[in-house]
Amino acid sequence: MTGQRRVIAKVLEEATDHPDVEELYNRASRIDDNISIATVYRTVKLLEETGVIERHEFRDGRARYEIVPEDHHDHLIDLKSGHVIEFASAEIEALQEKIAREHGYRLVDHRLELYGVPLKKADSDE
Ligand SMILES: [Zn+2]
Repeated sequence: MTGQRRVIAKVLEEATDHPDVEELYNRASRIDDNISIATVYRTVKLLEETGVIERHEFRDGRARYEIVPEDHHDHLIDLKSGHVIEFASAEIEALQEKIAREHGYRLVDHRLELYGVPLKKADSDE
């Protein structure tokens, strides 16, 4: 791995917010200002192809990335702020496996994205 790729990989490792290419470029060029956006694109493509990172599209037209996590999680996306919340639910996992089984399948992967807006105070006060 070249030095620039290493910088980009490090930025991805430290990210907790599913950055897009532009944001990765901003962060990487703060560490090494010789990094071009083309290098970021190429590196991200390579890391995705080799299964190191995962690409998400959270309906805002941008591809975002994260290192493939050791423990599986799903995403809840705040449609107002774009904030992404990670969660894991054993109940949902079990239910998905049950559904696959009922259709005659062994589940090997899934993606779950929830989209929401924050509750207004009155909604959550009941
Ligand atoms: Zn995530």
